[in-house]
Amino acid sequence: MACIVRAGFVFPLLLALPVGTIAAPQGQSVVHQLRIESSAGYFDEAVGKPVDLDAFGVWIWPSGGASSTGFGLTSRWPKHIIPVYLEHHTGRVTLFWLIMEVEMIIGAHLSIAKGMPAAVEQLKAIAGNAFQFFTRNPRGGRARDILAREVQEFKQLREAAGVKCVVGHMPYTINLATNRPDIYTFGKTTLLADLQRFDQTGVDYLVLHPGSHLGDGSEMGIRRIVEALTYVLEGYQGGNIALLLETMSGQGTEIGGDLAELEEVFARLGWPEQIGVCLDTCHLLAAGHDLTSIEGLDQLVERLDDGLGLERVKLVHLNDSKKERGSHADRHANIGQGTLGIEGIVKIINHPALRNLPFVLETPVNNYLEYGTEIELVRQLRTR
Ligand SMILES: [Zn+2]
Ligand SMILES: [Zn+2]
Repeated sequence: MACIVRAGFVFPLLLALPVGTIAAPQGQSVVHQLRIESSAGYFDEAVGKPVDLDAFGVWIWPSGGASSTGFGLTSRWPKHIIPVYLEHHTGRVTLFWLIMEVEMIIGAHLSIAKGMPAAVEQLKAIAGNAFQFFTRNPRGGRARDILAREVQEFKQLREAAGVKCVVGHMPYTINLATNRPDIYTFGKTTLLADLQRFDQTGVDYLVLHPGSHLGDGSEMGIRRIVEALTYVLEGYQGGNIALLLETMSGQGTEIGGDLAELEEVFARLGWPEQIGVCLDTCHLLAAGHDLTSIEGLDQLVERLDDGLGLERVKLVHLNDSKKERGSHADRHANIGQGTLGIEGIVKIINHPALRNLPFVLETPVNNYLEYGTEIELVRQLRTR
């Protein structure tokens, strides 16, 4: 039987180690079960099964402390995964991971053309708690003024509606890998302007497609992206928003279809805190990753952890794909109706390393209300 541990519960102190209250992310969650992700010795048979806590004396090491004792991996895992040590009555000790269950964060791409407060109203209508919007006209680049009064109203509405994550998406016309000087300059100045424009609005992330090198090769593309992002990071006053580079399908001359390209960008920038990663499930599948099997997903997560670092992954664009794995085509399909299928979606949204990330749908809909049906479907696919 799974043990339910309320957030805030203090575990018994069985060792002279700093032990504190378990503070769940965003302070509102409940741990529904303990799932063993890693164990040793007599406990092996329990891997993957919920544990009855009452049979053990349990204490928790804050994840920061664990890294200094040789469990270096833990410090690189998302904050909601905490190493736990179990002491059996025989005196044997086992390490496993406590996975904090937080409320699922899910929403969709909405419009702020009628104002940011209007987007919150739309989000309520589709029963989501996260949303994304274009910072400007996606195919042009014209920007709407965000007024102080609008921001104030938005913040109040957001709070009241329990919106957990708000994301701006840069227009498709931004290309930081381009060889055209006018487009390059427009791209980097617009990105900086939008970070600045939304800095005080409560927006959590801005998502950016890395860019297309237009035939000059990925080395040249990466060089341009790094130079532009350096300009943006140096100019950005404020720092409330993290910039997220999106994983791409590798269509045409796009940078970011190969994770090694993103790793190279981060490495040359010196792994700045201000930049993270947005996964797109359609793009990852189209780029060749297997997201329909547990083994494939584990492999991808391991790759992300080894290369970019899981702590940099902040957001998932949850889209099915019209095209097959490895097609390098960026064609989003509705949830469960593409090559990921329900089977793939189930595995993605429940993967221990991904499940507590915000999921934003960018599926083809005629009307935003259709997202409501898809969000409901995804929630039903969520395992407890
Ligand atoms: Zn995108
Ligand atoms: Zn896409």
